[in-house]
Amino acid sequence: MNLVIFGPPGAGKGTQSNFIVKNYNLYQLSTGELLRNEIKNKTKLGIEIFSIMNSGNLVSDEIVSDLIEKFISNDTYKDRLIFDGYPRNKSQAENLNYLLKKYNQKIDLVLKLSVSLDSIKKRISGRSVCSICGKIYNEYFNPAPINAECCASKFLQKRSDDTLEIGVKRYQTYEKNIAPVIDFYKQSNLLKVVNGETSISDINSEIGALIEVVKGWL
Ligand code: AMP
Repeated sequence: MNLVIFGPPGAGKGTQSNFIVKNYNLYQLSTGELLRNEIKNKTKLGIEIFSIMNSGNLVSDEIVSDLIEKFISNDTYKDRLIFDGYPRNKSQAENLNYLLKKYNQKIDLVLKLSVSLDSIKKRISGRSVCSICGKIYNEYFNPAPINAECCASKFLQKRSDDTLEIGVKRYQTYEKNIAPVIDFYKQSNLLKVVNGETSISDINSEIGALIEVVKGWL
């Protein structure tokens, strides 16, 4: 099964992908994470995209397509990918279908997490990630456990684009590009809209139920 999960920045794509990975043995392919790794490792690409990412804009379709093709073409990940943060515009949605077809695969379910801009602002400003295990926390809704070994506060890091100003810009970029992607997946009957404003565990359950239905068809 291949899944797409999308929603505005801070909608919970990463948190919900962690849940799906754990329960369904899929692999989370986060384009944002792949791009951040390039920046962290100071690669040529990382240097090229640093200012684009920190302005809240999208990097070019070609760059992201090359990154994801490496995974789609790799048998280790065949039919077990969660596309987190891809596609973000219509041409990426078409490209994803093209690439999957090229490697004899398809998308089985598309999840859209809906969250308001007000909630997004709180989520982005409170978000941190454990640099050891990658778990995502929020100081307001989902604080890291006190006295934890792995997720101790000294290991928690904030993303450089998780400021209020860049967050709002990222939200606007999302809104500007996403309508045709929604139509694209509505037409192929793959789209399920999930209310991303309820509790993490309620969203886990809703997504789990949707995946079970699709699993029954495969
Ligand atoms: P994310 O971690 O999904 O919030 O992505 C962080 C940033 O990475 C975005 O604001 C974009 O600059 C870039 N990015 C991630 N995915 C894509 C994509 N599919 N297309 C273009 N840029 C992307």
